[in-house]
Amino acid sequence: MAIGRPISQVDYPGTFQEVLDWFPDDEACLDYLAKLRWPDGFACPACGVADEAWRTGRGLWMCRHCGRKTSVTAGTIFHGTRTPLTTWFAAVWFVTSQKNGVSAQGLQRALGFGSYETAWAWMHKMRRAMVRPDRDLLAGHVEVDETFVGGVSPGKQGASTDKIPVMIAVERAGGRRLGRARMQVAERPGSTGLVDFACATVLPGSTIHTDGARMLRTLATKGYQHEYVVGMRAPDPAEVLPGVHITASLLKRWLTGTMHFGVQPHQLPYYLDEFTFRFNRRTSTKRGLLFYRLLQQAVETDPHPLGQLPNPSQLH
Ligand SMILES: [Zn+2]
Repeated sequence: MAIGRPISQVDYPGTFQEVLDWFPDDEACLDYLAKLRWPDGFACPACGVADEAWRTGRGLWMCRHCGRKTSVTAGTIFHGTRTPLTTWFAAVWFVTSQKNGVSAQGLQRALGFGSYETAWAWMHKMRRAMVRPDRDLLAGHVEVDETFVGGVSPGKQGASTDKIPVMIAVERAGGRRLGRARMQVAERPGSTGLVDFACATVLPGSTIHTDGARMLRTLATKGYQHEYVVGMRAPDPAEVLPGVHITASLLKRWLTGTMHFGVQPHQLPYYLDEFTFRFNRRTSTKRGLLFYRLLQQAVETDPHPLGQLPNPSQLH
């Protein structure tokens, strides 16, 4: 596994045919996950001794020093799965190689799953792996604002009660270009939760651009440069915070376009994770890099048993 930027066809497959060639069986998948999980080689979590382990069965490394067995999939979305890892890898390729992602129904069709619920649960497990536990903070010039997502229930014309406040932070990368984004559902609109969100996602010392709402002015006392438009004029928010405006538009288009069935409020955080994962990698010309990143993050993530996921029957 290369140090630094991973390379197509060296660190990750470049095509689906290569996925099939690289990962003919579960052992090959386990080897790959082990390299992602322990890029510097295996070190025993019990005694700390490195490179003194042998493989004992399915994905288990046994420490020669203390005898402790460690599973490469323990604590990951693959833990306890009865489905071959080769099928998981195909699913990850399918989901990451589509520019706009796929619905659970699309995954069900592509992999020939008998059950819609299975495909749905897999989609949600993969979404959980799209968020890095230790993500880098946004930096430089960052716009922070709230938008409303909703009115997505079929047959409803966006009644205000359906609207869910979503907090967005997005980097300005010069000109009209945008950098990375972060998103989170707000508990209440117009609350100081937006300040907490900004502090949790933006590196201190950065410049935060907002609409200047009074509660946001405390940002200047929390280690940020805070810039906003002052005056009685109520300018077009798309002009004041163009980055948030564009990002919110893309999010809404993605939610209604790719996720044909609409999104229930309690599921929205999962979808925000997937959208952010894709948005932050939108300029990547190598789709295989998303495959690599998702698997890399999957072995860093917590397990999410089906019972902890929202009920798929609530999707329709
Ligand atoms: Zn040990």
